[in-house]
Amino acid sequence: LVVLSGVQKHFGQLHALKDIELTVKRGEVVVVIGPSGSGKSTLCRTINRLETIDEGSITLDGQPLPQEGKALAALRAEVGMVFQSFNLFAHKTILENVTLGPIKVRGVGKAEAEKKARELLDRVGVGHQAEKYPAQLSGGQQQRVAIARALAMEPKVMLFDEPTSALDPEMIKEVLDVMVDLAEQGMTMVVVTHEMGFARTAAHRVVFMADGAIVEENTPEEFFTHPSSDRAKDFLGKIL
Ligand code: ATP
Ligand code: MG
Repeated sequence: LVVLSGVQKHFGQLHALKDIELTVKRGEVVVVIGPSGSGKSTLCRTINRLETIDEGSITLDGQPLPQEGKALAALRAEVGMVFQSFNLFAHKTILENVTLGPIKVRGVGKAEAEKKARELLDRVGVGHQAEKYPAQLSGGQQQRVAIARALAMEPKVMLFDEPTSALDPEMIKEVLDVMVDLAEQGMTMVVVTHEMGFARTAAHRVVFMADGAIVEENTPEEFFTHPSSDRAKDFLGKIL
C-alpha cells in the first residue's frame, strides 16, 4: 500500500534519511523504533508529505504522492496522522474537531458527518464528551479524539508518531487499547513508539532505525529475542 524506494532526505549537512526502502502492505502494522534523532519522525512526515524528499520515490496505492494543491489535501486525508501533541482545535468542540475535515475536505454533509463522528467518538470511548472543548478533557481522552478525527477521513493508512509519550502512565493504556483495536480491525498502521508491549502484541513487523537508515527489520518475536545488529542490541539493552 505504501512503498518507499531509495528515499534520501537532507537537512543541510545532515543526512536525515539514508536510502530508505520500506513497503507497508495493506492491513499491516509496522512499528518503527530507534534512538532519538534516528529519523523516525522524519520518515513518518515524508509519508504524508509534511516533508519533501531529495531523492527516491514514495507511492500510496501505486500512485506517487501529489506535490501540491487539492491532490495534496486529499492525500493528507488518506494518510491519517496522530502526533505526540494532540493538536486539537482549542476553540472547537470535540464533535466539531472530528466533523471539520470530512465537511471541508471530503464534502460530507453536516448531519452525516456528525452521525459518523459520534460513532467514532463512541468507538474510542469519548462519545459522552462530544459537546466539550479539548481543554476540558484529559490528555488520554484528547489523544483518542485525535485518533477519531483522523479516522473520520477514512484514511487508507494511519501514522502514529509517539502518540503516548506525552501522556501520564495511567492514560497510556487507554490510547494503546484503541490502537490495538484498530490494528485488529485491519487498519494499515505505521507506529513510532517506545511502547515495546504494543510492538510485541500488535506489530507484524518491527523496523529499527539508527542514524537515518533502516538497520534491521523483522517480526517482533525475532527482533526482540535475536536482534542481529550491534546498534539494535545496544538500543534494546538500554530500554528493556
Ligand atoms: P525522536 O525519537 O527524538 O523523536 P526521531 O527519530 O524522530 O527522534 P527526527 O525527528 O526524524 O528523529 O530527526 C532526525 C534528524 O533530523 C535529527 O538529527 C533532527 O535534529 C533532524 N531534523 C529533523 N527535522 C529537522 C528540520 N526541520 N530541520 C533540520 N533538522 C531536522
Ligand atoms: Mg520523533
